[in-house]
Amino acid sequence: MRDRFGREINYLRLSVTDLCNLRCLYCMPEEGIPKKEHAAMLTEDEMIRAVEAAASLGITKLRITGGEPLVKKNILSICGRAAAVPGIREVCMTTNGIRLPELAVPLREAGVKRLNISLDTLDPEKYARITRCGKLTDALAGIRAALEAGYDKIKLNAVLIGGFNDDEIEALASLTLRYPLDMRFIELMPMGENGFGKEAYLPYTAVLDRLPELEPTGEEGGAAKLYRLPGCLGNVGLISPIGAHFCGSCNRLRLTADGKLKPCLHSSAEYPIKGLDREGMAEAMKEAILGKPEWHGALDYANRSQSQRSMNRIGG
Ligand code: SAM
Ligand code: SF4
Repeated sequence: MRDRFGREINYLRLSVTDLCNLRCLYCMPEEGIPKKEHAAMLTEDEMIRAVEAAASLGITKLRITGGEPLVKKNILSICGRAAAVPGIREVCMTTNGIRLPELAVPLREAGVKRLNISLDTLDPEKYARITRCGKLTDALAGIRAALEAGYDKIKLNAVLIGGFNDDEIEALASLTLRYPLDMRFIELMPMGENGFGKEAYLPYTAVLDRLPELEPTGEEGGAAKLYRLPGCLGNVGLISPIGAHFCGSCNRLRLTADGKLKPCLHSSAEYPIKGLDREGMAEAMKEAILGKPEWHGALDYANRSQSQRSMNRIGG
């Protein structure tokens, strides 16, 4: 279905939980978030109904996210059922990778075709600091398990943080020389209560300054601008919600774990669907698509995101 600005909305990002086994500084408060009443969250059946409603409006691509989707007990069942919904051509997932050593193969078998795995640093001490509690060895074991499980595509995501990982841009990008995966750098977004200020924001051009040998691939990379290092096995992607927003080609709708449709990541507008039947959900989705703003408005460290939620409660 097209929105008021002619954009074809064919991509649903479904957050299956707002809980997580990490506490990344830019995403979650240290104490975690208060666990919501079970009754306030979408059930598995409601999630599948929502995917069916989305497919009836022409959505073909589904990304399962969170919070951390792999802490959800019934994640394999959700993925398997979502992948079987007629009209859904591709199910992908964004994960921190910590549970992939045991789940990479069953997830692939359940029908997940592509994985985005978060990795902000290659330094064990810095990984523990940014995630507040994670072990780098666990994340790397997850990435290795994913590489062995035969996914169609694996992308690593690093949030660019000035004074934290700008000295690792070369090391992270050079993973594309050794492994068949894409390395993507994402500008830090001023969301929720994340403790970072203006000084931590680095524009995507910082990557180009560090790596003058990067060549544009000329391919379409969704939200990412794609580049390659000579002799590489995968692309380097630059995602710039702030430096050069990509709202003009935004094809997404988001559904939070508590059943709110969000037409734009940075807007406070939400459309509830919990408890509705499939037709009711499809109607709400039409409204949300027609309510999609043209762009997210000025977004910088003076104009923080208008979304009232931190990333773990939206689904990044
Ligand atoms: N737990 C999973 C993970 O970390 O990949 C999925 C959910 S997480 C909210 C999705 C993505 O959002 C991650 O790649 C994370 O780095 C990114 N993210 C979270 N907060 C962010 C922020 N303030 N600015 C930019 N990216 C952010
Ligand atoms: Fe958890 Fe992902 Fe947020 Fe980190 S970015 S706290 S892994 S949801």
